[in-house]
Amino acid sequence: MATHHQILIVGAGNAGISVAAQLLRADSKLKIGIIDPSETHYYQPAWTLVGGGVFNVNKTARPQASVIPTGAQWIKESVQTFDPENNTLTTDAGQYSYDYLVVCPGIQLDWNKIKGLPEALGKNGVTSNYSFKTAPYTFECLKNFKGGNAVFTDPGTPVKCGGAPHKIMYMAGDYLRMNGLLPKSNLQYFTARSFLFAVPEYNKTLLEVVERIGAKLNFFHDLVEIRADEKIAVFNTKNEAGEPVLKEQPYDFIHVCPPQSAPDFVKTSPLAMKGDPLGWVDVNKDSLRHNTYRNVYSLGDASSLPTSKTGAAIRKQAPVVVANLLDDIRNKAPQGVYDGYTACPLVTGYGKLVMAEFDYDKKPAMSFPIDQTKEQWSMYQVKRRLLPWMYWNMILKGKA
Ligand SMILES: Cc1cc2nc3c(=O)[nH]c(=O)nc-3n(C[C@H](O)[C@H](O)[C@H](O)COP(=O)(O)OP(=O)(O)OC[C@H]3O[C@@H](n4cnc5c(N)ncnc54)[C@H](O)[C@@H]3O)c2cc1C
Repeated sequence: MATHHQILIVGAGNAGISVAAQLLRADSKLKIGIIDPSETHYYQPAWTLVGGGVFNVNKTARPQASVIPTGAQWIKESVQTFDPENNTLTTDAGQYSYDYLVVCPGIQLDWNKIKGLPEALGKNGVTSNYSFKTAPYTFECLKNFKGGNAVFTDPGTPVKCGGAPHKIMYMAGDYLRMNGLLPKSNLQYFTARSFLFAVPEYNKTLLEVVERIGAKLNFFHDLVEIRADEKIAVFNTKNEAGEPVLKEQPYDFIHVCPPQSAPDFVKTSPLAMKGDPLGWVDVNKDSLRHNTYRNVYSLGDASSLPTSKTGAAIRKQAPVVVANLLDDIRNKAPQGVYDGYTACPLVTGYGKLVMAEFDYDKKPAMSFPIDQTKEQWSMYQVKRRLLPWMYWNMILKGKA
């Protein structure tokens, strides 16, 4: 196996495969290596629908080998350290060098930052759509719920798909309504943030949905512990005097979105943003090039790009990385600029969705000829039927 690559890509997820496929479509002679230890590739955006019981979880996973583009070499190893001064990195099995590096190993789910959560997850009403293993259990919980406290949490860190912690609450509310259980249910959303959704035009509709399902919003509440034996969630918050206090909330069912950060091996590397405890790869927000190392690019969830972390954002980031990298290789000044575009298909019930698209300035950037600030049946169909097909057949093939 070659140990030097013209372009080395770390992570064969949404971002890594998109970039590799687009590069090879532009020039099939490029020598590309993709490092990723995972045997399986996941389509994570459908896990919300899995949790709502309307998507088969097995359709969200495919063998990694089936998505590696022809012409790229898959190195089935795990990156441990970076040495960008010497254009090398080490894995659990060896050392590799490169001319250009693309860093996109995704985000780390810090389950263990919540006391008691790792042991509690996946049983007795504690669930999360943030993993392939537990997303189906969310629907089990919904089916078994006979009324009582249904709790949904959102941490203070950036998370992948900022809408996912509350989308599942809307689906749960609609499910309980359809089963006549809504009057017996107390739906509560606890977020460490000061808002529900950062873009006012979409937030307005979401607040109407919250009202429709009778949910209560609790801001500045950060989940710190699950006491599974007692079915109690503990939140860090402040009292009326502004002093920190712990608040206990009993639950019958709890959906947790864990705190998230860059993977530890990125955080502790020279590629991480200096002084940032979450350790994102430090890139220029327009060119996606590293702010210190000019032959390094990053995109996707692991990058420092100040936009919402989604696959939709990667669809606009990947062509910018590809164009700028090709310009670099050809000794031309890189021209590609990313405008922060991202999208969050906010499922608000069965057959209802607000398709939120926006840019760095949190201004709506709608691409459909309808009012996307409103719930739309057509947008639900886009999420449930069109986007999964597009992902496997167009995006991962470098065609979209
Ligand atoms: C519940 C949920 C709902 C979501 N909903 C939406 C949605 O509706 N719309 C949307 O656009 N996005 C959504 N997303 C977000 C979307 O899935 C992510 O933004 C996207 O997958 C990020 O792509 P990525 O390539 O950066 O990371 P990933 O796709 O996570 O891939 C990272 C890859 O890096 C690899 N890796 C990790 N560590 C190493 C290492 N040490 N060495 C080498 N490789 C490594 C991993 O094995 C993995 O294959 C959702 C996510 C979740 C969890």
